[in-house]
Amino acid sequence: MNIMIPFDNSFARLPDPFFSRQNPSPVRAPRLVAFNEDLAGLLGIQPGDREDLAEVFSGNHVPVGAEPLAQLYAGHQFGQYNPQLGDGRAVLLGETVGTDGQRRDIQLKGAGRTPYSRGGDGRAWLGPVLREYVISEAMHALGIPTTRALAAVETGEPVYREGAMPGAVLTRVAASHLRVGTFQIFAARGDVASLKRLTAYAIERHYPQAEGPMGLLTAVRDAQARTIAQWMGVGFVHGVMNTDNSAISGETIDYGPCAFMDVYDPNTVFSSIDRMGRYAYSNQPDIAVWNLAQLATALIRQLDDPEAAVAQATEIVHAMPGLIRQNWLRVFGAKIGLCDPADADAELITDLLQIMADNQTDFTNGFRALSGESARDQFVNPAAFDAWASGWQARLRAETDPVAVMNAANPALIPRNHRMEQMIEAAVAGDYTMFRRLNAALARPYADQPEYADLTRPPKPDEVVAATFCGT
Ligand code: AMP
Ligand code: MG
Repeated sequence: MNIMIPFDNSFARLPDPFFSRQNPSPVRAPRLVAFNEDLAGLLGIQPGDREDLAEVFSGNHVPVGAEPLAQLYAGHQFGQYNPQLGDGRAVLLGETVGTDGQRRDIQLKGAGRTPYSRGGDGRAWLGPVLREYVISEAMHALGIPTTRALAAVETGEPVYREGAMPGAVLTRVAASHLRVGTFQIFAARGDVASLKRLTAYAIERHYPQAEGPMGLLTAVRDAQARTIAQWMGVGFVHGVMNTDNSAISGETIDYGPCAFMDVYDPNTVFSSIDRMGRYAYSNQPDIAVWNLAQLATALIRQLDDPEAAVAQATEIVHAMPGLIRQNWLRVFGAKIGLCDPADADAELITDLLQIMADNQTDFTNGFRALSGESARDQFVNPAAFDAWASGWQARLRAETDPVAVMNAANPALIPRNHRMEQMIEAAVAGDYTMFRRLNAALARPYADQPEYADLTRPPKPDEVVAATFCGT
């Protein structure tokens, strides 16, 4: 075994209540299907041959220095508090400090049952593993804080979902796996000592400049406000913004039924289990605030003067909608070519979005076309666009290089849902050509890449994917 991972495991040094030690469960015939060389380099990993990589990233061989464990957490799922969740199918191998000085978790997802599995088999099937691989790496290339994908391995074993599917393990890399729900569980149990310890750990790991629990709350708020605004800017719908899927680091985490919008519709919902539209595209900012309020509620439990703490936490949480709004204005301002948008510019943006909705404009292509010659072709009623564009052109006269601003803010490529489905279907049949092609194309989403023009095309009516599934 020649693979060397320079582990330095801070979480495993915390006391018992935070996790259970748990080795990954071996699989029958591991086969490496993807390995992220760039990310491996960043993490300081010295990779061995493909067989060794398959052994390590399937969980069959626990590498030197790893201290495998499953983390404990709780969380609100669709608004209902579930007092105990935890890694039910994920095992944290450990952490490395990368060549950039950043500490990151390396986790196997689909690594078998843990004490927190409750019902499931602890496994994952190939479809969601490849989906998360492509989408999380695409999000990274888009410049959006996210967990990343280091490896994907087929297990050679079936998992049973709607039928027998090929099993797989994803290696996920994250700034940490601390979630809002990690704090909730100790607050709900009244375990103040653990809550304090966790708070100190989170501050030291993520926000060393933050002072105390309310400093942490503020820092998490600011990070999440930025991330959510960036989701909005690329038409991303997370799909399961439960508090257990809300990372303290501000990274996008737990890619399940997530998807990118094609046609702009603020009410877009993909997840098959989101029947009420709780996590619809346009609800995401409100849900992020709701989730932060749950974090505030949990953090307050460790403070001696509850009244003062509630007042302070309320103020911090109440400022979040305004912060998301500011970030949204910056993100969408850039999308129409404004490098320093003012509040008064918001109307120009919302007017365009309304015209897009009325004209069933493709969100990605509609914005990308703004910097080209034929933007009006993206609208069923081009006259509606022309009317908007005259005011827009007048406003652009105050800008120095709006085309450059737009091209850096409006991706040409996103991981379109129908392509994800086609990619999975091909991979299940043993053909990884499309998987590799998508990864290559999506590594440069803001570039014009004529060889990938087919990937910019919206779905034909018979290609539209109506619902996405959690992947469990
Ligand atoms: P998720 O919806 O993926 O965020 O998962 C919610 C909870 O269900 C987490 O505690 C998971 O660990 C657990 N879970 C999801 N899928 C499985 C599975 N196949 N086996 C065991 N536990 C699972
Ligand atoms: Mg989850």
